[in-house]
Amino acid sequence: MLHKSHLLAKSELFQRCSEELTHSERIALSYSRAITIGRFYKLEAEDILLTTPRYWEFHTDPILVMDCSAGTLLTIHYNLCCGTFARYSASRPELAKILEKMLSFQMMGQFCLTELGHGLDVMNLGTIATLLPDGSFLLNTPVMNAAKYMPPTAPCGIPCIAIVFARLIVHGEDRGIKPFAVPLHDGYTMAKGVTVKVLSPRGASRPLEHSLTYFTNVRLHPEALMDTMDKPENVRQGFFQQISRVIVGTLSMGVSALAPMKIGCFVTARYSQRRVVTDASTGKLRPIISFRTQHAPILTVLAHIYVMEAFIKKCVTLFSDNSIDFGLRHCIAAVGKIGLLGHCQESLISLSERCGAQGLFEVNQLSVLHADMRGASIAEGDLLVLAIRFTMELLIGRIEFPKPNDPSGLLAQRELSMIDELRQLIFGSRHHRDRRLESLILPYCQPLMEAIGHRFAYEAAVEQGVDERLLNLYVASFLKKDSAWYSEHAGLPRSEQHKKEQQAIDTVLPSLDQLLQGINIEPYCTAPIISDDMWGRYVDSLKTFTEVPPLVRHAKKEPREDTKIRAML
Ligand SMILES: Cc1cc2nc3c(=O)[nH]c(=O)nc-3n(C[C@H](O)[C@H](O)[C@H](O)COP(=O)(O)OP(=O)(O)OC[C@H]3O[C@@H](n4cnc5c(N)ncnc54)[C@H](O)[C@@H]3O)c2cc1C
Repeated sequence: MLHKSHLLAKSELFQRCSEELTHSERIALSYSRAITIGRFYKLEAEDILLTTPRYWEFHTDPILVMDCSAGTLLTIHYNLCCGTFARYSASRPELAKILEKMLSFQMMGQFCLTELGHGLDVMNLGTIATLLPDGSFLLNTPVMNAAKYMPPTAPCGIPCIAIVFARLIVHGEDRGIKPFAVPLHDGYTMAKGVTVKVLSPRGASRPLEHSLTYFTNVRLHPEALMDTMDKPENVRQGFFQQISRVIVGTLSMGVSALAPMKIGCFVTARYSQRRVVTDASTGKLRPIISFRTQHAPILTVLAHIYVMEAFIKKCVTLFSDNSIDFGLRHCIAAVGKIGLLGHCQESLISLSERCGAQGLFEVNQLSVLHADMRGASIAEGDLLVLAIRFTMELLIGRIEFPKPNDPSGLLAQRELSMIDELRQLIFGSRHHRDRRLESLILPYCQPLMEAIGHRFAYEAAVEQGVDERLLNLYVASFLKKDSAWYSEHAGLPRSEQHKKEQQAIDTVLPSLDQLLQGINIEPYCTAPIISDDMWGRYVDSLKTFTEVPPLVRHAKKEPREDTKIRAML
């Protein structure tokens, strides 16, 4: 079924080639796209708070990755900012009013948690909000390292409010980290005491004005404090409750990785069907898709896509089930994010390499999606550190992840054997925080979480009736990644592993076109390399130099800056 935004994707706003615009024009375009998507989806507070099916439909919509800057603005706005407001607004009418303005996009929301000096150890952040005798607060960035990093907080033509996490100080006592609602700017001018320094562009990804944000004696009225002034009994637990939207964000980031895989796969497949070379033995033209080295990665990514679709459904269902322990739901979000982003990043690299030089150009979507998704791998749960945290919890039995339905399956066997090996290391040491043990275990955390995710995804796909040929290819694609293990423990010598994968590819190959149609992604593919017609239109739109000198052609207009420089040379 087509995504509901498919007509929006075909509109001029989303089809226009932004690569030719200036940096600030691109930023403005991304804001405009974000607001258009938001007004199209019209998510409500309940959707965000309860993570309803509409919430997940939004986060899996490929329109968000046609311009990932728009997608980033929206995920911060909806999940992190509106989601935190929604937690408190039922009992706080003044917060509900602001939330309403944000939901109707009269105001954008930002989320200032991370600091320059405190990323993954953000529990030790330095921003301070001091209670004053009249009940108001004074918000300060006490040292340069406490600058908020790196939400895009610069003026953008629309008023903006942020949730700012700061240490609450009451009569000299540290009451823990609390969220404050802080107006940042009116769209054009910063609020008193708020300073923003726009960081230089990330490069490679779509541009967004990521910034450093500083607070100097910002006076906040008493209602700005969203939570109570009480010190939580358990500081760590209290902190994770305050930032619970980041945990929702972990899975939201994860599910957004499916659309880039689909776009990458579709673009590479269509290009490979169009692109021909002369066959060395017959002298005839043949499309590059006919090479094993071309269709194998495309079919493999297709198998991953179909399995990931089922994986997302399973993770979302379990994550949204409030009867399940919160720690386990967080772990499911982590397994989901690690699995999805791992597949996504690997597939975008392997696919873009198969498009030759065309794979390097932003306009063809592959390289820019890879850079955008690198950001998604870090934001709202860095993959490695998520893996370290949950591997430890699983190994010491603090969290029980659902066991394999079929422990004799190849993926399940490998997962269980990895867990077994790591547990033996732990039980043989004095304490699970022992430094020597840490050195042995840490490098295996991400591979273990990936292994759990692969097995869990496979089971989800079996349960949801995914085509058996795709399931076989999914499993076969992992054998070469740990060839020695499958050879030593699963009785599969390398030649068998290779044969299994080749057979799986052969059985899927005849259905390539049907499988590509089935992922319903064409409206979101703007890469000109996918068809002769699109390539022709792209070439027509390019800046052109002919024998007519540029200055003559621009005679009636003031020459552009770049033309002036060329003329000087
Ligand atoms: C696209 C994007 C958007 C963002 N938007 C926002 C936003 O809106 N609001 C906001 O508050 N923040 C935002 N961030 C910041 C984000 O939350 C942080 O980048 C993230 O928390 C990681 O912090 P860091 O970059 O400082 O990494 P660091 O903390 O410096 O970690 C770097 C590396 O150190 C190692 N490391 C750190 N801790 C450990 C450990 N315990 N064990 C082992 N290794 C470790 C890991 O290799 C890790 O990858 C955004 C980031 C990105 C990329």
